Amino acid sequence: LLDASLVRIRETEEKLGAFLQLDEEGARLRANQLDAQTGDLGLLTAIPMGIKDNISTRGVRTTAGSKILGDYTPVYDAAVMEKLAEAGANMVGKMNMDEFGMGSSNENSGFHRAVNPWDLERVPGGSSGGAAAAVASGQVQFALGSDTGGSIRQPAAFCGVVGLKPTYGRVSRYGLIAFASSLDQIGPLTRNVEDAAAVMQAISGYDERDSTSADVGVPDYLSALTGDIKGLKVAVPKELLKKGVAEGVKEKVKEALKVLESLGAVVDEVSLPHVEYAVATYYLLAPAEASSNLARYDGVRYGVRVEGDNLIDMFNRTRSAGFGDEVKRRIMLGTYALSSGYYDAYYLKAQKVRTLIRRDFESIFTDYDVVVGPTAPTTAFTFGENTKDPLTMYMNDICTVPVSLAGLPAVSVPCGLSQGLPVGLQIVGKPFDEAGVLKVAHAFE
Ligand code: GLN
Repeated sequence: LLDASLVRIRETEEKLGAFLQLDEEGARLRANQLDAQTGDLGLLTAIPMGIKDNISTRGVRTTAGSKILGDYTPVYDAAVMEKLAEAGANMVGKMNMDEFGMGSSNENSGFHRAVNPWDLERVPGGSSGGAAAAVASGQVQFALGSDTGGSIRQPAAFCGVVGLKPTYGRVSRYGLIAFASSLDQIGPLTRNVEDAAAVMQAISGYDERDSTSADVGVPDYLSALTGDIKGLKVAVPKELLKKGVAEGVKEKVKEALKVLESLGAVVDEVSLPHVEYAVATYYLLAPAEASSNLARYDGVRYGVRVEGDNLIDMFNRTRSAGFGDEVKRRIMLGTYALSSGYYDAYYLKAQKVRTLIRRDFESIFTDYDVVVGPTAPTTAFTFGENTKDPLTMYMNDICTVPVSLAGLPAVSVPCGLSQGLPVGLQIVGKPFDEAGVLKVAHAFE
């Protein structure tokens, strides 16, 4: 399995740029140990995987796509790495990403861009673009990404693979390099829904080292994949199929809804009245939390240091050289929103709108089992197409950020091609109902 993965990487990596770090030596060592293993084998024994580079891996460089962590090697494993080791999975390397998860195209990687295997002129999505490209091209059998406002689901959609963002609290964030702590979640990118269920089985569960980890029982995800969705109640928010959504995407989503109906589901149109404020709300809260989380990169504790005339000068030079433009933009936005006198007008207001968005979903879920719509308003765009101004890029997150703000589980599953490019169907569930969204995705797939 490892050899097949390494051959594929050698064939494709020069074009794809999906990896920030290959760990061939470590992977071979682990493969030999796994070969020698007898007795009960783990669920994912010897399966080659890629890990997004913001997930801490002991002894393997972990940069979060940032130059400021260019020489950082963690001394401990993230909780998900411990769990995947127990399940027997074998990490091949660390996957490319937008710096600290800030981006929707991988164009913000501090090192080099990752490319969409379907069309090398196009972005793989972001921020887990390297992970999605690697799974889509067969470099690895699955990958872990992280999702703050869509970073697992949108690249999965752009690259034609399955991507699942768990309920906030379902998977431990211990060892995940923080972007926006109230939104960040780790989840799988896979070739099919069954694989997503298997990886979720391995990584889910309570962890006392993450104070927001939820002590909620983990069901058997694989046995939830029955194929039976007769009588399922599907809500389709009209706001997510309106203006700004490409015709080809709308068409594929409507076809998918027909498929769900043919399987016995009941599909109704509903409304999420506050969803129009979701992008604005997210782009206040996420940068605010990021500005605080990123204060730790000061040239003292981690990574790169640029010497200066005095301490403050050293901070300034280190952060000026180490962070890219998008990260600096967000630190400025976030610091502004949190500054005294502005806190009530921005951060507090955004928190209130966040509650309204969560309630919109809650009221739908009293009558429906899942909420379904497109994962992204477009298919993969070309490099440079959305970089002219930041707002154009931010608008690409319109379908995913409401779900993140509400903390709900959601899967993106491929639902066909538009002009030769994959379209993703987003299926959103009730809190901690990953089994439910996987079941629907599996029946549809
Ligand atoms: N594209 C969004 C952003 O730039 C989401 C990123 C993410 O989920 N990490 O913030």
